[in-house]
Amino acid sequence: MKHLVTLIPGDGIGPEVTAATLRVLSAAGVDITWERFPAGAQALAEHGTTLPDALLSSIRRTRVALKGPVTTPVGGGFTSVNVGLRKALDLYANVRPVKSIPGVRTRYENVDLVVVRENTEDLYSGLEHVVVPGVVESLKVITERASTRIARFACDYARKHGRRKVTVVHKANIMKLSDGLFLDCFRKVVQHYPEVQPEEKIVDNMCMQLVMHPERYDVLLMENLYGDILSDLATGLVGGLGVVPGANIGDGMAVFEAVHGSAPDIAGRGLANPTAMILSATMMLRYIEENQAADRIEAALFAVLGEDGIKTPDLGGTATTTEFTEAIATRLTDNP
Ligand code: NAD
Repeated sequence: MKHLVTLIPGDGIGPEVTAATLRVLSAAGVDITWERFPAGAQALAEHGTTLPDALLSSIRRTRVALKGPVTTPVGGGFTSVNVGLRKALDLYANVRPVKSIPGVRTRYENVDLVVVRENTEDLYSGLEHVVVPGVVESLKVITERASTRIARFACDYARKHGRRKVTVVHKANIMKLSDGLFLDCFRKVVQHYPEVQPEEKIVDNMCMQLVMHPERYDVLLMENLYGDILSDLATGLVGGLGVVPGANIGDGMAVFEAVHGSAPDIAGRGLANPTAMILSATMMLRYIEENQAADRIEAALFAVLGEDGIKTPDLGGTATTTEFTEAIATRLTDNP
């Protein structure tokens, strides 16, 4: 079956990891027509806006996008394209599966957890103001509506993927109203999922637990800020930013992207690890029900990292992005 997917190659290492991913998808024989768009600085130069309307309407039509990282200037300059995209399309659930990868040695084995992060509110609502000079307020917004739908998303995800436990992470002992509401919504929702074991953890304890015993956790449900921080922590358990995929999911619409940024320090030098982007593409393939192709790509990728020991420099190897990608493509074409 032919699929139509929106593609945002991004900037920095974005175009390199995107090209690698397209090469692997085509070696796996998946039939996708891409609607390709720039975003960020490139779009600003070409279209006068960082997030062109044509790009948004393409995703509204195709319902699915694959996205490379896009640079956000620090301090001044334009606002984050990533945040803009999530807001414009109401992609309220950020999902990061964090799983140990064969051949990628870390301090831990058997990590297999999924961070589900609320993507639209909390301290990321951007409501900040100066009360008097020297005093600023930043508002943390938590609503029953958003907390309930993300709790439902996490429980549905657990049900669909055969996961047994959902741990809600909070600081409701201090933020009794805001985190209290988030926790309360989870408690109400999870009652309707008898197969899901609910668990509650205070966020500071959760940080310690994750670095001591990550294998004990399954699905982790968090507000926006805790989710942002803890999901990066979680990537460090399995080999870092270069190997963890992600998705931003709304109702009937999803944008798949690697966890890492545009890595300007290594851009254009053939050093980028495309693993995270390739795994994001396998999540996308499962979303469009190309499960077999997703399984084949994952098997080829893990064989190259594990059995073949071919790795990019971030994982201690010497392979270039192209050499690594071609090794995966060869495995796919040799085992059709
Ligand atoms: P980064 O993820 O780009 O880089 C952090 C470090 O990890 C760097 O040393 C980099 O070389 C390395 N790294 C990242 N991805 C790698 C890969 N695939 N292979 C090998 N090494 C890799 O984070 P940063 O430096 O904080 O951010 C750079 C830019 O990216 C910023 O403008 C930031 O706003 C943007 N960013 C975008 C996204 C996104 O588009 N979703 C996410 C995070 C950051």
